[in-house]
Amino acid sequence: MAPVYTNSNGCPIPEPFATQRIGKHGPLLLQDFNLIDSLAHFDRERIPERVVHAKGSGAYGYFEVTDDITDVCGAAFLDTIGKRTKVFTRFSTVGGESGSPDAARDPRGFATKFYTEEGNLDLVYNNTPVFFIRDPSKFPHFIHTQKRNPETHLKDANMFWDYLTSNPESAHQVTILFSDRGTPASYREMNGYSGHTYKWSNKKGEWFYVQVHFISDQGIKTLNNEEAGAMSGANPDHAQEDLFKEIAKGNAPSWTCYVQTMTAEQAKKAPFSVFDLTKVWPHADYPMRRFGKLVLNENPKNYFAEVEQAAFSPAHTVPHMEPSADPVLQSRLFSYADTHRHRLGTNYTQIPVNCPVTGRVFNPHMRDGGMNVNGNLGAHPNYLATSHPLEFKQFSLQEDQEVWEGSACPFHWKATDDEFKQPGALYKVLAKYPNQQKNLAHNVAVHVSAADPHIQDRVFEYFSKVDPELGSNIKKETLQLSPRN
Ligand code: NDP
Repeated sequence: MAPVYTNSNGCPIPEPFATQRIGKHGPLLLQDFNLIDSLAHFDRERIPERVVHAKGSGAYGYFEVTDDITDVCGAAFLDTIGKRTKVFTRFSTVGGESGSPDAARDPRGFATKFYTEEGNLDLVYNNTPVFFIRDPSKFPHFIHTQKRNPETHLKDANMFWDYLTSNPESAHQVTILFSDRGTPASYREMNGYSGHTYKWSNKKGEWFYVQVHFISDQGIKTLNNEEAGAMSGANPDHAQEDLFKEIAKGNAPSWTCYVQTMTAEQAKKAPFSVFDLTKVWPHADYPMRRFGKLVLNENPKNYFAEVEQAAFSPAHTVPHMEPSADPVLQSRLFSYADTHRHRLGTNYTQIPVNCPVTGRVFNPHMRDGGMNVNGNLGAHPNYLATSHPLEFKQFSLQEDQEVWEGSACPFHWKATDDEFKQPGALYKVLAKYPNQQKNLAHNVAVHVSAADPHIQDRVFEYFSKVDPELGSNIKKETLQLSPRN
């Protein structure tokens, strides 16, 4: 039976387009609630878009444990081979507005919510294993330079490269971004990386630093610079379309999940800090260990309800999985939930896509607030009360935890020439793939040819430190594209 058309208080409306007025063509009446209510609701359809990661696509699926990992992590959802946990993943670009092209040269967000029996775990990853900054106070500055010039409201090659060359710890991420991996062919054909170091612990109380990798079972497929430019015009939503249609056809994309581990002793000896988000852990020194599979096999039924309102935070974690002291991660623990409180309201975890499936959310002092729709814990006291005892579930604590010592002081983690070693290693890796060194130089040259000569000179120097051949090839092509008189 077809639903009965009603207004927002449920009253049946016999004729939706008959607006109340004087006679046939006289002025409208304010008493026409049907008209006023529908216009007022329409006026409020937009919520604040995310300041970063505004354009995105999402899907449901499951995570399955494929290999025993209980010696590293005691989280319940990992405790048995074959165990499945429902997930929701949202992919995104970073810098563009919500209607911007999916083919933009930009890192891609890869955030997954695991609806576990111990609460929701959010793994808020990217498709690159490193990032542009390692000091969170730089984040707003950095993002502004990748967005629009405050005067012209245009993307601006000068401010883009001015920031990056002034902050050389960006060189590793910039080298990846300007390789063809900066323009993935689809969300299915890219990897996801934790980037940050996290801490996992087992039930014996031993803990490990970890880096997590989701490697695409579809393989890596990228667009070259010109294909990405053409795609941005021809189909700005190509990655959304690809994900939705492939899942609808039954071609569920999947990723094999690996973890690299380090003990505290190994971390002390590593030639880089494990809290430095601009560095990877070389595969040869820290082998990848398989533990699971992520499969996305179900499209959301409603984009706004499920994808736009999805709210991820690295602070949403479960027993035996903790953040490390990586300062960018520490800041994200605050910033993500802060954004959702602004964007969706203080009760954003009551929205179905964000709701834990445990049915065990019971935090009696967190009450009221805008859009409280889950019964607000009824008559239960709104404080912890001895007259209403609660169970406090224990899980094993880790022994031999990190001990921090030092004076409370401002510290700027300044860049050194060390920043160029890992991007230099990547440049050599690119030689194994057809055209990839050439495309990297070309992709930078096309972008930087729009900048002023003094900024271009800084870019040539920056990439010469990654590799002298790369710097020289970028210079040659840039000067051909934007000759100096
Ligand atoms: P390996 O030779 O063991 O690994 C090289 C890795 O490079 C590949 O496994 C692949 O990672 C990745 N890769 C290939 N093409 C690109 C590209 N265009 N952009 C980014 N990554 C690419 O060497 P190492 O582990 O010693 O690392 C060497 C360099 O490889 C690093 O400096 C880093 O830039 C890059 N890399 C390293 C990763 C790591 O965790 N060790 C992860 C990703 C990149 P994948 O298998 O993940 O696709």
